[in-house]
Amino acid sequence: MDPIVIIGGGIAGATCAKVFSLDNPAFDVILISASPVVKMVANLRTIGRSIDIFDVIEQNSSALENINLKVLHNNVILLDSKKRTVTLDNGSVIKYSKLAICTGAKPKMIPMQNDINVKRFIKCIRDTETAKDFQSILSTSKRIIIVGNGGIATELVYEVSGCEIVWAIKDNNFGATFFDSVVSKFFSDFLKEDPASKSDQITKRHHFTVNQAESEQKNEFGVALGPDWHNGFSMIGKSQKNVVIEKCCQISNIYRDVASIPTEKSSHIVKSTDQDNWNVYVELSTGQIYGCDMVISATGVLPNSQVFTENNTFTLGADKALLVDNEMRTSIEHIYAAGDVCAAGWPLAAHWFQMRLWTQARQMGFYAAKCISAHIHKTSPELYFNFDVFTHVTRFFGLRVILLGLYNGQGLPLEDCSIQCRVTAKKELIKVVLRNGSMQGAVLIGETDFEETFEKLIYNQFDLSRFGEHLLDDVVDVEDFFD
Ligand code: FAD
Repeated sequence: MDPIVIIGGGIAGATCAKVFSLDNPAFDVILISASPVVKMVANLRTIGRSIDIFDVIEQNSSALENINLKVLHNNVILLDSKKRTVTLDNGSVIKYSKLAICTGAKPKMIPMQNDINVKRFIKCIRDTETAKDFQSILSTSKRIIIVGNGGIATELVYEVSGCEIVWAIKDNNFGATFFDSVVSKFFSDFLKEDPASKSDQITKRHHFTVNQAESEQKNEFGVALGPDWHNGFSMIGKSQKNVVIEKCCQISNIYRDVASIPTEKSSHIVKSTDQDNWNVYVELSTGQIYGCDMVISATGVLPNSQVFTENNTFTLGADKALLVDNEMRTSIEHIYAAGDVCAAGWPLAAHWFQMRLWTQARQMGFYAAKCISAHIHKTSPELYFNFDVFTHVTRFFGLRVILLGLYNGQGLPLEDCSIQCRVTAKKELIKVVLRNGSMQGAVLIGETDFEETFEKLIYNQFDLSRFGEHLLDDVVDVEDFFD
């Protein structure tokens, strides 16, 4: 039988390769990765049904190899799904019996003109190479503009110190991918903090790099950085930290210098006390023009599917993600996909939705391995399907953040919902979304210890009406539900 081939050495691909090869020692497995390091999960702890807490480690790809698992450090440049082959950048052609595509995603860039003098100051952060590039410009920067309102932008605004940050967001509150206005307000005090003064703080998760030289190799398809990517980098600019949030706006233009700004707009340039000459000038849809040393584009990612979709007719989801069914199969026979490159195409459970995160990349890579196994052995992988309640554990502003279910009431008719919230300033926030008396989602910030209970409440849809508005006063009684 031809080998099982997995493409991508990120969390999804590496997990899929490892799980499949361990479960099926009699089968040959080939993992092909454009990046020299692979990302692995370590110290996995699962709380409740599916709240995963883990470290992400980078390893030399050879560390993953075992008797039936071989790792190739190559780019896949062609897929021929009829012949069941992939072609590598060194010209070799590999035949597969089953293929799993786990090639992740690449950052979306803000639209800009092709001026090289503008382009070199627009950065994104995806891998070690781009992070070093960012760090190098930051070290001489007095003002940077961060565009985007997701996790990476929020993390950057907190981690960068010694620099004025203009944070351009399209929403009315910051961090809107994860926070509503209540949570955003809770965190607003932290924006003034300078993390450089809190060196004793616990890091997000441990981060190990086995071979620094290899992990720094330049690569078009670098593996996405680990959660503590900033720990190895100096995140300090050349002035004082100050954060200005520009809400409900987008970038409408970027100018290479003052001379390129139309005269009628020159009065819109926001003055700075000690600098007139900036690398680029950014015009926001509000009309204001900010000069800055660098623009960071953190506006989301696009699935890395192009090399496969060019010559093969996959059914695609939004942004050309490879659509997969409830057993991680794409629309082409024998081809699976997992992680950031895929779109969940099954009828979603009421409290789960897809987000391009570590947690889901791991879950999907694991489940894809179980599905491939089950299809070969003609069994059902149903037992391993674990996409019922959305869960995500992370850290923002130095605090643990756990998001469960429809934590922002995503997709719910808000007139039917109520929200209960308990806040201890700068320490803890508990927010729950309720509908018809049962819990739909929750945000837990700080060390609350309620995650397991709340996940069960969301999964089982217990009627909590009897607690009325006092649900969060009586969480201990709520926990008795399960005794
Ligand atoms: P990736 O990790 O992107 O791996 C894709 C792999 O495919 C790479 O090895 C790449 O080299 C390989 N590849 C691509 N094309 C080819 C090809 N043609 N041939 C061969 N190999 C190829 N998520 C969180 O949950 N929490 C966080 O705190 C968090 N922080 C983040 C911070 C940053 C700066 C970034 C960029 C992302 C962050 N994410 C975070 C998102 C998270 O990194 C991704 O969701 C996750 O890495 C996706 O895993 P993946 O395996 O699908 O893809």
